[in-house]
Amino acid sequence: MPMEPLTQWWCDACGELIENRQEGAVEYRFDRQAPKESCHQSFRIVHNGNAGDRGRPDGLQGCIEKGTDKRGFGEAPLTDLMDERGILRMIGWKSTEATWDETFRRISVPYFEEARRLFERAAADGDEIIPEKLSTPTLKAIIAKYADADR
Ligand SMILES: [Zn+2]
Repeated sequence: MPMEPLTQWWCDACGELIENRQEGAVEYRFDRQAPKESCHQSFRIVHNGNAGDRGRPDGLQGCIEKGTDKRGFGEAPLTDLMDERGILRMIGWKSTEATWDETFRRISVPYFEEARRLFERAAADGDEIIPEKLSTPTLKAIIAKYADADR
């Protein structure tokens, strides 16, 4: 089934679909010892507490990694990361770490999330995957060409 762009994501923790923005969050680690340009690290998109306990044995809700010890973690709900708010928030967390770029694309470029799972297959087929050139028409073409084999 096609994904709803900028509304649904694959959870980086459990691998299941985040059905809507209300059930997801961007989570990251914060390392005070690291240089400023890379102190925000390990960005990922995960289920938040609105998605229930997800079968966690620790009794916590969602797939957010931080538990009772909140030091060293940060997060924001996906509902707060759309449009200009999302751009400003992500720039505030700017990091040289690769997960920052990838997460920014996932929350701001329509069809990126659905297409990214197909990049490996597309590359194996000879299609060039250049992150800077993955505009919506290109991403839709990748989905049209490769998604059926994935379903
Ligand atoms: Zn999850």
